[in-house]
Amino acid sequence: MNLNKQFTLELKSLIVILIFPLLIIIPAAVAVAIGRVTDSLDQYSTSFIRRVDSIIEELYFEHDQVKKANFNCESFKDELFFDSTYREMFFVENGMVVCTSRLGNATADIRHLLGTKGARTGEYLYNRAGDPSKRTLIVATVADNDPFSGVFSVIDREYLQTNIGKQISDRVGALKFRVGTQTFPQYDDFSSDKHHVRAKSHQYSYEIIVEAKQSYLEHMISYVVLQGIIVSLLLSSAFVAFRRYFLKGDSLVEDLKRGLDRDELFLMYQPVVDSENKSLVALEALARWEHPSMGLIGPNVFIPLAEDYGLINKLTSYVLDRVYRDLCGMDDVKVSYVGVNIPPQYLHHAKHIEHLRDTHRSLDALGVTLCVEVTERQLLDDDARNALTTLRGFGIKISIDDFGTGHTALSVLQKTSFDVLKIDKCFIDTIGVDSVNTPVLQTIIELGHRLGVDLVAEGVETHEQVSYLESASVQYLQGYHFYKPLNLTQLREIL
Ligand code: C2E
Ligand code: CA
Ligand code: CA
Repeated sequence: MNLNKQFTLELKSLIVILIFPLLIIIPAAVAVAIGRVTDSLDQYSTSFIRRVDSIIEELYFEHDQVKKANFNCESFKDELFFDSTYREMFFVENGMVVCTSRLGNATADIRHLLGTKGARTGEYLYNRAGDPSKRTLIVATVADNDPFSGVFSVIDREYLQTNIGKQISDRVGALKFRVGTQTFPQYDDFSSDKHHVRAKSHQYSYEIIVEAKQSYLEHMISYVVLQGIIVSLLLSSAFVAFRRYFLKGDSLVEDLKRGLDRDELFLMYQPVVDSENKSLVALEALARWEHPSMGLIGPNVFIPLAEDYGLINKLTSYVLDRVYRDLCGMDDVKVSYVGVNIPPQYLHHAKHIEHLRDTHRSLDALGVTLCVEVTERQLLDDDARNALTTLRGFGIKISIDDFGTGHTALSVLQKTSFDVLKIDKCFIDTIGVDSVNTPVLQTIIELGHRLGVDLVAEGVETHEQVSYLESASVQYLQGYHFYKPLNLTQLREIL
């Protein structure tokens, strides 16, 4: 997979993580915002109805007071004139207005308004002078035995609009009021195509529609949606960070699995030289991983990962095949053997032993012997040691890697049949600097000589180390002083 593709994939998954929740959050936020607007309209309509109910209740109360009293028009006028700023009260007898709170004594025939059957106690919307633009509210208390007599209060239209109808907050756009079939102000219909709520007075016969102001609705939606987007992006980012931080290992394992299938791993070869004439003796295959997005990854990262997640055997077989494939492509491989790092658990399966045998045979045909480097750091149990004996029987060389750093008892070393002992770099590093540890190096070298195996010094970096090892008869040297691990092109050049 190329880098572009991987990048596109990562970008896609990031977009999904960031954008997908928004597809849910945004409609949910719109619903929440509309809910909040509805709540606020409900509150408004409840308080509006409470106010209007108390005005109507007070009027009925005053009507009753007037009915009970011994009626006298002048005192009626005097009593009501000043507190009747928002309404005029009419006293009617036999279809005739006989007294009003503004004018006192009067005579006006209103039988044509009362109709043939007269009036009934209740609330009405009434067009003054037959003009709908002068429509206003009337509260009527009619005498029990005479439908043409009673007390009628007409509420001032301006008052209705400014003090009640238009006492509208910055949240409410319009309010419609209906009694019977009539609507106030003089709308034709009692409906709304805006966001609204309807409410009814439980005490009296009117109902209302309260419409939300468009700007309030829009403001609320954008506010809640913005909040939702911020929270969603924060949560998504936290999720991405969490995934990156905690699941990094897991996703890298998945990448490694894919990488093995897609040939993203390759080998570099570090030469081993003869300490006497510095001629090339062997190669060690060292795995590298060209990760499609992270770039080059070293074995110190992916080998432990492969070991922990059960991929190490697959990887080892891959390396064996790759060694053969690489060396097959060379004209002439002038080395005696090629070392491959084999973890002990690989030796536990018969099919792997066969794989090693087959690789050895194929390499043998190229004139190169396979050398199995087993690290002494991991436990070499009886099965693994028996397997090594079997491999040796096939002609495969056995090398003990990182010698001196593990916990293998010397007795295990004694029981294991092997050909090469690789002295770990940490002992080579003591040459010329650490007089305390140099005796350990001397002892390891002596042990190797006594066991009659070849000694390879790893990580040789300085001239001083070379001289020391030469004089101590360490036959083979490997390290940056001679060669760093080489890619195939570089290897071809030196062969
Ligand atoms: P190792 O088998 O001990 O390999 C030697 C390591 O030391 C290599 O590192 C090599 O590049 C490095 N080295 C060689 N000469 C010098 C030197 O003069 N100075 C310094 N500072 N370093 C030097 P690399 O390639 O990073 O490999 C690290 C370890 O990863 C290897 O240690 C080996 O244990 C493991 N490894 C590498 N390839 C494979 C593989 O194909 N399979 C398995 N199972 N393990 C592998
Ligand atoms: Ca090695
Ligand atoms: Ca080593």
